[in-house]
Amino acid sequence: DAGSEPLLQTHGLTKEFGGLVATDDVDLTVERGERVSIIGPNGAGKSTLINLITRRLDPTEGDIRFKGESIVGMEPHEVVQRGVSKSFQTASIFPDLTVRENAEIAALAAEQGDFGFNFFTHRNKLTDVHERTENTLDAVGLLNQAHTDAEDLPYGDKRRLEIGIALAAEPDLLLMDEPTAGMSPEETKATVDLIEEVKEELGLTFVLVEHDMEIVFSISDRIVVLNRGQVIAEGTPEEIRGNPDVQEAYLGG
Ligand code: ADP
Ligand code: MG
Repeated sequence: DAGSEPLLQTHGLTKEFGGLVATDDVDLTVERGERVSIIGPNGAGKSTLINLITRRLDPTEGDIRFKGESIVGMEPHEVVQRGVSKSFQTASIFPDLTVRENAEIAALAAEQGDFGFNFFTHRNKLTDVHERTENTLDAVGLLNQAHTDAEDLPYGDKRRLEIGIALAAEPDLLLMDEPTAGMSPEETKATVDLIEEVKEELGLTFVLVEHDMEIVFSISDRIVVLNRGQVIAEGTPEEIRGNPDVQEAYLGG
């Protein structure tokens, strides 16, 4: 029964760049409905771990299972089609397309594997894509800007559109790598509020990389601490807050 497997599970996940071990024997488990944050000092291997899961990087060793299936041999788009979506890549926005077109493409991309199967499936999927686009734009508060070219959006709305693009695929797992990087305090607050809203409304499972501890402690069910590629601690926000190893990794690093 697929429902009883953890949603995501890595086993001994190791990535080396030349002699440098960026992630070292990482076992990470994410259950359905869980909100997990990954923290750790600069260079700890957080982004590498995310890029391994999205298949942007090949592991040197180890396995990644999503819904019980190994995804290590797959192309990035195959992982998207299975329900993994990464947000906060400005590169994912097509600047000269409208907000709606951007969301539509994202909704379509998650379907592509099944397209052209037969007329009825095709038609249902198009209806589905249309609905998903509308729901997504509504959820991220961009319905009234649907016809605006993406490049003309103010910065904060661009970030909303990035979340929308990730959500349009209705992912089972949303990955976010430093979503508030480069944002003003106001934009940071708006983004965190949006993540909170989406978390409540959609019951989304996510893995968040974030350096702002206040955000991490308020938004996470569980926190995983990486240092020099290794998981050095794991627990609830309360457990992590008082953990001496974590304090040493940050202060002594
Ligand atoms: P974090 O996101 O926690 O700051 P990264 O995963 O980006 O850390 O990096 C982990 C380590 O791997 C760092 O020492 C970094 O310099 C190195 N690294 C990351 N990507 C590459 C790459 N493509 N080539 C070589 N070294 C890399
Ligand atoms: Mg990083």
